[in-house]
Amino acid sequence: MTFQEIKDQDQKYIMHTYGRVDVALVKGSNARAWDETGKEYIDFTSGIGVNCLGYSDPQWAAAVAKQAGEIQHMCNYYHSPQNIGLAKELCGAAGMAQGFFCNSGAEANECAIKIARKYGEKRGAFKIITLHNSFHGRTLTTLAATGQEAFHRDFLPLTQGFLYAEPGDLEGIASLMDGSVCAVLLETVQGEGGVVLMDEAFVQGLRQLCTERDVLLMLDEVQTGVGRTGHFFSYQGMGVQPDVVTAAKGLAGGLPIGACLVSEKLRNILKPGQQGSTFGGNPVACAGAREVVRRVNDPNFLREVGEKGAYLQKKLETLPQVDLVRGRGLMLGIQLKSLDAHEVLIKCTEQGLLVLTAKELIRFLPPLTITQEEMDQGLEIFARVLGE
Ligand SMILES: *Cc1c(COP(=O)(O)O)cnc(C)c1O
Repeated sequence: MTFQEIKDQDQKYIMHTYGRVDVALVKGSNARAWDETGKEYIDFTSGIGVNCLGYSDPQWAAAVAKQAGEIQHMCNYYHSPQNIGLAKELCGAAGMAQGFFCNSGAEANECAIKIARKYGEKRGAFKIITLHNSFHGRTLTTLAATGQEAFHRDFLPLTQGFLYAEPGDLEGIASLMDGSVCAVLLETVQGEGGVVLMDEAFVQGLRQLCTERDVLLMLDEVQTGVGRTGHFFSYQGMGVQPDVVTAAKGLAGGLPIGACLVSEKLRNILKPGQQGSTFGGNPVACAGAREVVRRVNDPNFLREVGEKGAYLQKKLETLPQVDLVRGRGLMLGIQLKSLDAHEVLIKCTEQGLLVLTAKELIRFLPPLTITQEEMDQGLEIFARVLGE
């Protein structure tokens, strides 16, 4: 098929829910990908933070293929060693007690919201505070949790019981906690919201406030988790421990998975029959995730993520068209002085560099395994596009 044929069929058969770019990818290796004509791209997207070990990492692919050849799925009536192994390793990496597995970030957040509702149920506390400019998913309940009205439009009414606060406004959040609130849910870096960093003192203050008011602190680490910020979970670099944490995107290195982890005090909060997912804990996805956790939860690997992020940030800050760079680890937002981010994205693509946007910023979420050579090659294309 020619690219035009691919595009025509996409337009005809796929619902138009995505603003697609004129590229079809057919092959990849670490931070390089190739289209149907063989043109090479440096990839600073990793599928929006999903392919954390890069495209088709050989060890990851072998672990996944091996599991597919042994037993690919079973129903949740039965014990699954892969499922249990992942839960144990992930809880160990996160400092949490138990996990529930599902298939996406939105579903992991849905589980967190159900846990919060159940936690507050006996005292009539059902409201959940989230932040303006947040992003928590596309289901009707996680849309309600998402503090951006643009996403709500056309889909009302949404699930009730969400209150919105300004990021950083500890007093405002305290004033909303009138006994009807069971949880606060937030991202430590708002990814879709434009790579907006939550202040460490704010997150620590929230931790203290939540403890005082018996409100759950729930962190959505769907984008920031699994090594992205240079810590296994970003809260581990902030001196706080949440009551609930959700993960998805990078967790299985490119296979669908979501996880909701709870601390010791929430052990066994959901009873048999209160939550489930047909594919949740699927052994093939879990085999991929175990390879990811094994590789990423290593101090040297995590240190390198931090170093690569710092290198990219330093190089980007020298470009005259760059206004500012913000982020943590390999999650970077680049504010441009006068250029339009979407136009820059299109030009980068034409020149062989895949990037993302977030609001009016260019966003880089490269694979955590990106090499020095791949970074430099991508930076060179980026500098050339900005200079044109
Ligand atoms: C991507 C994202 C989600 C939604 O994850 P899906 O797998 O697309 O459902 C939720 N929260 C955050 C912070 C995200 O970045």
